[in-house]
Amino acid sequence: MEIPIFTPVRQYLNLKEEIDAVIQKVLSRGDFILGEEVKEFEQKVAQYLGVKHAIGVASGTDALQIALMAIGLKPGDEVITTPFTFVATAETVVLLGGKPVYVDIDERTYNIEPKLIEERITEKTKAIIPVHLYGQPAEMEKILDIARRYNLYVIEDSAQAFGAEYKGRKVCTFGDISCISFFPTKNLGAFGDAGMVVTNNDDLAEKIRMIRVHGSRMRYHHELLGVNSRLDTLQAGILLVKLKYVDEWNERRSEIANRYSNALKDIDSIVTPYAEPYNKHIYHQYTIRTNRRDELIEFLRGRGIQTAVHYPIPLHLQKAFSYFGYKEGDFPIAEKCSREVLSLPMFPELRDDEIDYVVESIVDFFKSKN
Ligand SMILES: *Cc1c(COP(=O)(O)O)cnc(C)c1O
Repeated sequence: MEIPIFTPVRQYLNLKEEIDAVIQKVLSRGDFILGEEVKEFEQKVAQYLGVKHAIGVASGTDALQIALMAIGLKPGDEVITTPFTFVATAETVVLLGGKPVYVDIDERTYNIEPKLIEERITEKTKAIIPVHLYGQPAEMEKILDIARRYNLYVIEDSAQAFGAEYKGRKVCTFGDISCISFFPTKNLGAFGDAGMVVTNNDDLAEKIRMIRVHGSRMRYHHELLGVNSRLDTLQAGILLVKLKYVDEWNERRSEIANRYSNALKDIDSIVTPYAEPYNKHIYHQYTIRTNRRDELIEFLRGRGIQTAVHYPIPLHLQKAFSYFGYKEGDFPIAEKCSREVLSLPMFPELRDDEIDYVVESIVDFFKSKN
């Protein structure tokens, strides 16, 4: 059996009529940039999350960069974040001349360890970027408390957590700004790149709206340094159709995760995902850990099962940022996890027989090699 780690095709086929219709509608109207569906999608997302402002941009990476521009990040400023995340979280800080200051992670949730944040704060610290990794909320209460005491901005990287909840409240509503990605693999995925910046702060919202269109309120009048980063009307139309189903899809992900975890829990060499009882984890990824990760990848590949490693190199050891001088051993838990994590096939349209096949194959691997 061939099982992809992710495919957007089944979802498209399930919604073909609705999606084809909205694409035709936008094509025949022609307002491709910040058109009707963008406004409607922004309103619906703001409503869904319970935030005042939702501003569509071209990608999750741009959302982060624009958020950092809006808080006025300057060269030399420091931003505290996790080394165990997708590169964009730190890359955008570096692009603006800032320095990512890493804090190691909690070995059970893979999110930033709040206990270690305070010792990393300096005069130059401007913001904290927690990442809700794999769809599980970071420890927002503790992070917000530290940020309040040191007068720091909090920017949530919610790229993997659209619909996740922390203590009964949706993520994206805790930070000064929150950044969302609608990259096709994300829980709410477009048919190309797309992203969003959300905030309850009116002043920041106004700046963000200007920055995404070259820093202008009125065309050709540029008050701020900006970028060109808009959500396409076509993508917004597709996302509007899909938004109606995202809760249902997140429920199904949770079911899939339970099915995996129940079947894998008795294998001693595997650590299954841990979710804090007060978190609604939405399983953007279902990620296990084993110290025989690389062998297991090959074995599963032989059975037609695709897996992925999120992420094989923690950011402090990436070559592109090597000039910051971080070295092996600086963040031991992130380093250990980067050697052991493995994400299994996960998307709402994954069938039970496919999950069972993945599980049986993993059981066979540990039986045959023990
Ligand atoms: C996907 C992702 C991003 C970037 O989003 P894009 O839309 O791909 O630019 C940023 N941070 C995290 C944690 C992500 O998973």
